[in-house]
Amino acid sequence: MKFVRFEKKALSLYGRIEDDRVREIAGDIFSDFRVTENEVSLSEIKILPPCVPSKIVAVGLNYRTHAEELGMALPEAPLLFLKPPSAVIGHLDVIVHPHMAAQVDYEGELGVVIGKTCRWVAEADVPEYVAGYTCINDVTARDLQKRDVQFTRAKSFDTFAPVGPFIETDIDPDAVRIETFLNGEKRQSGTTRDLLFPVAVLVAFISRIMTLCPGDIIATGTPRGVGPLSPGDTVEVQIDGIGTLTNRVVEQRAQQE
Ligand code: MG
Repeated sequence: MKFVRFEKKALSLYGRIEDDRVREIAGDIFSDFRVTENEVSLSEIKILPPCVPSKIVAVGLNYRTHAEELGMALPEAPLLFLKPPSAVIGHLDVIVHPHMAAQVDYEGELGVVIGKTCRWVAEADVPEYVAGYTCINDVTARDLQKRDVQFTRAKSFDTFAPVGPFIETDIDPDAVRIETFLNGEKRQSGTTRDLLFPVAVLVAFISRIMTLCPGDIIATGTPRGVGPLSPGDTVEVQIDGIGTLTNRVVEQRAQQE
């Protein structure tokens, strides 16, 4: 099933996608819900980020090819960092290129959306704790990431976590293609077959450290081909079976400095 979260009369609702239509859901997808008879056209709705995470747990250097392009050694255990929920934006929202950063890169990634509270979960049990999968762009101020010991500043600017457009429940997370396009040109093309630490390993590992809550997102790492974004650019993260997450880049307004 494919779910969308959208705005209707200042409320946020979930819907189930059926071709180009959206059937409204009563309740939310993380608890009991019912698909209603109310329908709207997909083209008419304002799409919201597909969930409201308490945290985004991101994984660094989870593809050999990306570690090589950054000249980094492969990690022996999943390399984790956090992105704050305040960085989340949705499909067609704008990424703000901050004045503080000289180089802002896109990183197209598969996002795992947690469905149930999750702690000390065995790898074999991970699927029952996952609500579904989405696209995430782990936008990164590369110059600040290199300058700081911690990743927090580089990864956490408002708008640095575009997510969406949909949550798909029925894909094989170990075999999907991820592609990133910059102004229509393909810049990244990878498959989750190449993840150093696959989804089940990541969720089980993270659940040994912290409680994962419904709606939390795990950004599973990016394949090779990362590169800079400039104001005016459009970046798209496309994952087979999920859809295409599209965001335009704008410059930070002068009055925000
Ligand atoms: Mg990343």
